[in-house]
Amino acid sequence: MRASTRRNGNFTFVIPEKIGSKLLKKHANVSKQVHGIYTRPTKRWILLVFFGLILPNIAMIVPRQTDNGKIDVVVIDAGHGGHDPGNLGTGRYSKKEKDVALATALLLGKYISENIEGVKVIYTRTDDRFLELYERTAIANREHADLFISIHCNSGPRSAYGAETFVMGLAREDANLEVSKRENSVIFLEDNYEQNYEGFDPNSPVSNMANTIAQRAYLDQSIEYATLVQNQFKGRVQRRDRGVKQSVLYVLDYTFMPSVLVELGFLTNRSEEDFLITTNGQELMASAMFRAFRDYKNHRDAVSDGIKVDQPQQTIEEVIAVDQSTIEEPEPSVPSFTVQIAVSSSLKELVPQNFRGLDGVSYYKEGRLYKYTYGEYSSLKDAEVAKNEAREAGFEDAYIIAFLGEEKISVSEAERLLQ
Ligand SMILES: [Zn+2]
Repeated sequence: MRASTRRNGNFTFVIPEKIGSKLLKKHANVSKQVHGIYTRPTKRWILLVFFGLILPNIAMIVPRQTDNGKIDVVVIDAGHGGHDPGNLGTGRYSKKEKDVALATALLLGKYISENIEGVKVIYTRTDDRFLELYERTAIANREHADLFISIHCNSGPRSAYGAETFVMGLAREDANLEVSKRENSVIFLEDNYEQNYEGFDPNSPVSNMANTIAQRAYLDQSIEYATLVQNQFKGRVQRRDRGVKQSVLYVLDYTFMPSVLVELGFLTNRSEEDFLITTNGQELMASAMFRAFRDYKNHRDAVSDGIKVDQPQQTIEEVIAVDQSTIEEPEPSVPSFTVQIAVSSSLKELVPQNFRGLDGVSYYKEGRLYKYTYGEYSSLKDAEVAKNEAREAGFEDAYIIAFLGEEKISVSEAERLLQ
């Protein structure tokens, strides 16, 4: 598979024979139904190629007349919204992923508008509303964005933390499957998803092959911006760098421009949630993405002006590496209480409907078991109230446990430390 790029932004695609014939077959059926006319086999073949293969690709890829290869239009996408809250974090705050994503997205757009002349900033949402994934990508495609930035927050075991940025995945990687499932899962909440996401199956690595071919040309630039973002997070905001990763994500596969999905950090980790929930934390993360944008734009604009820029090209393999190193986080010296409500050998999604309506469920892992907890409190008294709530909800065996940082300690030890 090769894709060559010319400076004016037009692309020539060489479709591998195998995929080409597969696509042809797929479109052949459609064309038969649509046209219903008799043509001699060779002519029909030409028609099929044009209507089935060439036309859709032209429609997708041809940039607007004014496109000069410069970065003039950026679409900023705050993840989730409305009845889709995203992840709920530790449950200690009323703010959820959708709120942190929106606040940070608006700040990023503000910094770009105020500091860089001539860049059009477009948001997919500016308030707490539900948007389907295809609407987000449609906005970016319609506006001919030069860069698409989707902003999210991660969830995971309470010990997981750090920031990571995703670019379009060419192949499914197991390590990133959880993020892929979670950030795509809204598709299944949407009405008529089969109709709107025809051909996109988040669980199938080959379903979006056609888009992958088109998008391949944008991957290098996506990686360039993603790398700048991660360097800023790490160098200037002292976040743990989980790296640039690839995943099969709808909003990245269906935007026909360089596009990234930023996971600012884990709201399920207490220290990271404490940071991301504050205006200061959001300002720091937004300004990091802003500086990365400014550097990216300077570089891309210079390239389109024909200025030779000395910047060693990193290969995908060099950039995309899952960061396995662990960075020790200082343990907080204040204990906390929570209510253990259930144990399971499989990981359930942390949504109220999975926990008899309880909002604010988190989990920790012990051995092979996932242990689900409800709420998090600095006093035993508050934890008692939560325990009673959990029991009333039907978790009759709910009981209080205590933590010091990520370490489980006895309730009496926690009480002693509090004195
Ligand atoms: Zn998300």
